[in-house]
Amino acid sequence: MGTRQRQLIPSFSSLIGQEKAKNLLGRALTSGNLAHAYLFRGPDGVGKQLFARSLAAAVNCRQRQGMDGCGHASSIHGARDTGASLPCGHCPSCRKYGSGNHPDFLVISPEKGTIKIDRIREMVQTLSYPPYESGVRVVLLEDIHTMRSEAANSLLKTLEEPPENNLLILTAAAARDVLPTISSRCQVIPFFSLGQEETVQVLLREKPELEPEDARMLARLSEGSPGQALLFYRSEMVALWRQLVALVSDPEKDGSRDVSLLLQAAERMAALKEDLLPLFGLLRIWLRDMLVEDSLAQSVHEQVTGAEGRRGNNQKRWNFRQLFDKLQAVDRAEKELGRNCNRSLVCEVLLFQLQQ
Ligand SMILES: [Zn+2]
Repeated sequence: MGTRQRQLIPSFSSLIGQEKAKNLLGRALTSGNLAHAYLFRGPDGVGKQLFARSLAAAVNCRQRQGMDGCGHASSIHGARDTGASLPCGHCPSCRKYGSGNHPDFLVISPEKGTIKIDRIREMVQTLSYPPYESGVRVVLLEDIHTMRSEAANSLLKTLEEPPENNLLILTAAAARDVLPTISSRCQVIPFFSLGQEETVQVLLREKPELEPEDARMLARLSEGSPGQALLFYRSEMVALWRQLVALVSDPEKDGSRDVSLLLQAAERMAALKEDLLPLFGLLRIWLRDMLVEDSLAQSVHEQVTGAEGRRGNNQKRWNFRQLFDKLQAVDRAEKELGRNCNRSLVCEVLLFQLQQ
């Protein structure tokens, strides 16, 4: 008890973005008007699972139970109307959620691309017993859009009227169809892609060692999905991207010495396999930035005399036309990958074109 525990389960107020979900769920929590089943719908990697865990912990947080007058009302501090301070993160229940092994929190995820009917049957069986130790058992059913109709049918009755003291949270991708029989039985909470700054904040919080500039590139590449950005980060793709940029944009390089360096770099690229496409995405963002900078500089140049200092650092090497050609080279490389051309060869050709 005396040791300071890191707060592993975030409070609503500390979650980044998703204001709508925060408001809807926070109000339901504090007013005691929670639905019996929620459907969190939105793109991948924007926080649906984190919100589900936070909600599950908040429902069973001792601080909230105190608020509800279950014997601890006098000891409640700082519980605000919005429910934003929940879960408290340090009561015994929250600590179990934080460590990821709360006996009354069930997670059902797709196996081999679909939610199995057997798992649903087991869950229905489990729900017929009261929770082990907490006030409310929470079941998280992930990616419900992968469920086939037989599995869905076996869920309907439970979804419509879950046994007492059970809360179901379903998640589904925004772009995928969910059976209307499922969605009509849940309160739907919409989730959205995060803004670029919000994505950067999430990334820096999750990976404090990340350079802010790299976080920004990852945020742009992932288009508002921190989950996707973290996947990219784990693959070391960003480090390789930085090396490539240094390699191809160094004006001091002489062609003969470079060949072996380029070939080595191409091998490292090819080894990325499925992460090669996002690496191309980073190269594209980098080239587009230079294009935009170039055209901005051009328009300023037309108004102001003096040709120097039009482009920064390593970007003086290429003019608008050359940058455009390089962007097309990235597009071509991507198409060739799609046609199953030899990966190493595609990377070699691309790097030579980028360096010219
Ligand atoms: Zn708590």
